[in-house]
Amino acid sequence: MLKSPLSLGATIGILGDGQLGRMLSQAASRLGFKVVIFGPDKESPAAQVSLASKVAAYTDEAVLARLAESCDVITFEFENVPASSLDYLTGKGAVVAPSSKALRITQDRVLEKSFARDHGIGTVDFYPVDSLDDLYAALRQSGLPALLKTRREGYDGKGQVWIRSLDEAPAAYDSLNGRPSILEAKASFTREISVVAARGWDGQVKTFPIGENHHVGGILSTTLAPANVSPAVSAEAHDIAKAVLEGLDYVGVLAVELFVLDGDALLLNEIAPRVHNSGHWTQDGCWCDQFEQHIRAVAGWPLGDTSARCTIEMTNLLGADILAWPDLSAEPASRLYVYGKDDPRPGRKMGHINRIKSV
Ligand code: AMP
Repeated sequence: MLKSPLSLGATIGILGDGQLGRMLSQAASRLGFKVVIFGPDKESPAAQVSLASKVAAYTDEAVLARLAESCDVITFEFENVPASSLDYLTGKGAVVAPSSKALRITQDRVLEKSFARDHGIGTVDFYPVDSLDDLYAALRQSGLPALLKTRREGYDGKGQVWIRSLDEAPAAYDSLNGRPSILEAKASFTREISVVAARGWDGQVKTFPIGENHHVGGILSTTLAPANVSPAVSAEAHDIAKAVLEGLDYVGVLAVELFVLDGDALLLNEIAPRVHNSGHWTQDGCWCDQFEQHIRAVAGWPLGDTSARCTIEMTNLLGADILAWPDLSAEPASRLYVYGKDDPRPGRKMGHINRIKSV
């Protein structure tokens, strides 16, 4: 628990060293904070723009202890940080947000969906799978096709396989290497939306306008926001985000990904316990963006104004897309964000561009 708002010049530690850490660090330094990055890579996107970085495994207790000593608040930008590392930091007297409890639930698709159900939020039907027998039993109930996912550490469509007939079950099961899994019934959605929202130490909640997301090959391609959804869908999505934030006793920014079904019912797909790619549009579309909002929340500052200034289409620049930077940087009414990564491997998130669609 933070006893009082952080003063100017205070130090924030961030576990995770990717582009989300980079943009959090930039937002924090704009507000006068110092940032220390803790992650596995030396020249990481986040370390490049921060005061200091500690290059170590997330489980390195000696380095975690030094981080606890030198930071006024510690947060994370990566949901696969071990929750036990957050407990270790807390045990050393550090103030950590979001909490390890929130991280544990959102790291595991079965715990996450069970949490949603327990809080009256709809999800697809789902079944924990720990053996091929479990998978057959689950498929008999879910119907076909159905989606087998690892419970943990899947992202951008990785660790997921569609099963279209019972014959495909053994190969699908083997492809996940026996890892604890979840079978999900297919959601027949018409659109995918997300809501990014924040909660402060004092329980204040603010939600950003809804984004509509398009994925290609399981990876987010574009977000259009504020999305053209009905007031009822928007209100329900915001209520879901609020229920999630309060149910997790959450401090910081999170994103809730939702499926919109025919008739506008909403199902929760996933909770990301961090700033999120579908919230990048807020950098140019809102008065206070998601990165600043997260820093404000964990620092105990008042939450910023989340209202939209304009409509933005955010497009991810994956792999070689970034090589078009000379043209992209010359586009009017747009802003280019580059993450400082060397190798434009196919599918790798190298940057994004926010294009203003209407004011
Ligand atoms: P996830 O990693 O769970 O966010 O899944 C990546 C993408 O796969 C989602 O954005 C959807 O487009 C699709 N997807 C995930 N789960 C389901 C489901 N149960 N039914 C239909 N499509 C899904």
